[in-house]
Amino acid sequence: MQPLKIYNTLSREKEVFTPINAPHVGLYVCGPTVYNFVHLGNLRTFTSFDILHRYLKFIGYQVRYVRNITDVGHLVGDGDEGEDKIGKMAKLEKLEPMEIVQRYTNDFHDVLTQFNLLPPSIEPTATGHIVEQIETTKILLDKGLAYESNGSIYFDIETYNKQGGDYGHLSGRVLDDLLTETRDLDGVGEKRSPLDFALWKKASPEHIMRWPSPWGDGFPGWHLECTCMSHKYLGDTFDIHGGGMDLKFPHHECEIAQAKAAHGRAPVRYWMHTNMLTVNGQKMSKSLGNSFLPSELIAGDHPLLEQAYSPMTVRFFMLQSQYRSTLDFSNEALKAAQKGYKRIANGLRIIKGMEFEGEAMAIDEAQVGEIDAAIQGCYDGMNDDLNTAVTISHLFTLLKKINQLHTGQLAFGQLGKDVFDRLKSNYINFLEQVLGLREEFPANQEALIKGMLGLYATFKEKREYNKVDEIRASFKAMGLLVKDMKTRIDWAYEE
Ligand code: AMP
Ligand code: ZN
Repeated sequence: MQPLKIYNTLSREKEVFTPINAPHVGLYVCGPTVYNFVHLGNLRTFTSFDILHRYLKFIGYQVRYVRNITDVGHLVGDGDEGEDKIGKMAKLEKLEPMEIVQRYTNDFHDVLTQFNLLPPSIEPTATGHIVEQIETTKILLDKGLAYESNGSIYFDIETYNKQGGDYGHLSGRVLDDLLTETRDLDGVGEKRSPLDFALWKKASPEHIMRWPSPWGDGFPGWHLECTCMSHKYLGDTFDIHGGGMDLKFPHHECEIAQAKAAHGRAPVRYWMHTNMLTVNGQKMSKSLGNSFLPSELIAGDHPLLEQAYSPMTVRFFMLQSQYRSTLDFSNEALKAAQKGYKRIANGLRIIKGMEFEGEAMAIDEAQVGEIDAAIQGCYDGMNDDLNTAVTISHLFTLLKKINQLHTGQLAFGQLGKDVFDRLKSNYINFLEQVLGLREEFPANQEALIKGMLGLYATFKEKREYNKVDEIRASFKAMGLLVKDMKTRIDWAYEE
């Protein structure tokens, strides 16, 4: 079997995944900034890491999956100046910042549940780790790798790099280029160099999210929370850190610098970055105005949407491409995904209800070979940097065999019980456990119930009372009652 390989942004190569302390795996993923509803692009990134989480578990690792909630410090414009995204929304809506945080954290959880993402092991918040962030800032000041300026503390990139730091390595940026790009843009102000970034910011009088610190009232810089929380829960060096590509620079670059400077070693073995969901080739983003919400997708309620799409259709659509390629949204692609998902889901229904039956006959080696190659292909796809597209193509080969068994084109005896069991368990497990795809029942059963009541009336008229009783029993099994009244027939919840 091929070992699991993942593309490491640090080496720019696919590398065999070797955990530091198998069977344990430490995984950290940058979570959302909870000032607004998550859009479909955000969901793609979290789904990609859900696949990683699921597959690591599937192949036997014990994963500690830490995904944070950013509830302070992320400023409008992603830089070191300006309003806090959450504080700004709180002012606009005349709410407490924590009400904003709670509202959008709830939404985030609801969406992830709807799209069948597994929860992380720990979901720490930035505001819950202010003490750790102040402590790390103190360490960096003590080491001479940070400086105070007007009540704010900045990381000193020049000194860090002079002492052997490698700021710019992860994202492949050359420091001199970065300097020429940024020098003219905004004045150096409080910073010694425009590249330096805030560890702690002094809060202006109107800034609402603030905490006391040795340097006066302030709040932590955006990059610091991830360094502190990953360190606290996963240690000095852990296995995998993930996030969207847009976080590579400066967020992850800064995380590496902070951690190396504070704890003396590289914090992460494998850095993984997911590619963007695009709309007409442009990154989906709130600021560009081309984003839509998962709820709009499910309701089909957006000018870009020709119809409604179910959560599993959307999940399937996302998994049809590997996480490192861009994925462009289009109605055509989603409609095709809807067809594909339904075919796959029908296979799931069929195989779950199917047991090996039939008499012994000569094993058809060609059929068995095809099935085993497809099962192997499912693993190989996942092991090749989580290429879900390849795994899905092999699942379609398994689906073909399932359908042939169902229609009798293929006899159970041609496969033998062992091969049948392998086909069944792998099809179900790869779909449900690895890809997180499940059957989706129609949300509104009212139409079905009405149809059954119609049949009830017909059978009653024809005096076919055994059929009438069967329908009554089906209703009861669903926790419902047929209400057979003088003038009409209706249904009710069984009390
Ligand atoms: P944010 O809440 O803005 O910090 O974003 C949460 C996560 O979503 C980050 O990992 C981003 O990189 C990711 N993200 C934002 N936009 C997109 C997009 N269009 N496609 C994929 N991932 C995205
Ligand atoms: Zn982060």
